[in-house]
Amino acid sequence: MQQEHPLEDVLYHRYSRQVLFRPIGQTGQEKLWHSRVAVVGLGALGTVQANQLVRGGVGFVRLIDRDIVDASNLQRQSLYDEQDARLGRAKADAAAEKLHLCNSSVALEAKVTDLTWRNAEALLADVDVIVDGTDNFEVRYLINDVAVKHGMPWSYGGAVSSYGTTAFFQPGATACLACLFGDSPPAHQDTCDTLGVLAPVVSVIASLQVAEVLKFLTGNNASLSRQLAQVDVWNNDFTHVQMGPPKAGCRCCQAHEFSWLKARGGGTTVSLCGRQTVQVRPEGKGTLSLDEIAVRLAGLGQVRQNGSLLRFELDGLTLTLFQDGRALIHGTEDPAVARNLYARYIGM
Ligand SMILES: [Zn+2]
Repeated sequence: MQQEHPLEDVLYHRYSRQVLFRPIGQTGQEKLWHSRVAVVGLGALGTVQANQLVRGGVGFVRLIDRDIVDASNLQRQSLYDEQDARLGRAKADAAAEKLHLCNSSVALEAKVTDLTWRNAEALLADVDVIVDGTDNFEVRYLINDVAVKHGMPWSYGGAVSSYGTTAFFQPGATACLACLFGDSPPAHQDTCDTLGVLAPVVSVIASLQVAEVLKFLTGNNASLSRQLAQVDVWNNDFTHVQMGPPKAGCRCCQAHEFSWLKARGGGTTVSLCGRQTVQVRPEGKGTLSLDEIAVRLAGLGQVRQNGSLLRFELDGLTLTLFQDGRALIHGTEDPAVARNLYARYIGM
């Protein structure tokens, strides 16, 4: 829901430091107010991105994340606090609540969900820019397919250890993700699971991403970067690599073969980056009644309902169940253990 237009004095005062920056000015500020952005993933990158976009007065921001807040997030995920972690709140809900306190004029839409081939177009195709705050290439290829199919720009960002990479893709004007990397992620895929990640590099990459988004939304296209930026905050290395034009024969942006948007196989189970958690996502589950399930599980273990999710603790494992049937199983990295718990207590 779009909120009412902020009063002129609010535009002048609240955003005055941004309006004084001449390439934006009042005209640019008005454009931001009428802009719509989707942030995919509200972890380290996404919280910094969403914070800057909302404070900067982008009128509509959709916040998409499948995860819940954990204590190990607090070192770098700047919108969450200890209470969010203690309650295991859904990140999208916790982020929206915090951001509303920062700028109540902005229309925020929290989506507690996994981005998949089923919902990607519904969640992304109606905004002006997509911002990547994810930690995995499966979702990035999905974003790339939606962006190219609908002619929308998107901002790619990734960070691990002390280094990160970012690029602003604009269909027609630049190469796309598939032009650069083919259809498989870069050969060596380090993750924050194995190498950790420093908050400073996350802030740098996310800030570079938002800068490109602000340029695009305010019509400053001549200032957009056409390069892949690479930053290492520990080894003091800042480099740029030319992205080049769209690659001849690219499956995505030339042949318009959007393979990541096509139906994929049955239920999936994936281990999440960052901690002992496995996601179980049975296909065709439909919407669950968490109230009914809470009654059924009462007495078998500790059950707590918290907004749009249910938590069930048993034998050192915690199952967090969402209304769409998806669950996060904490306390294991073994997909078989996670699926077994789900099958026994929720039913596959
Ligand atoms: Zn391409």
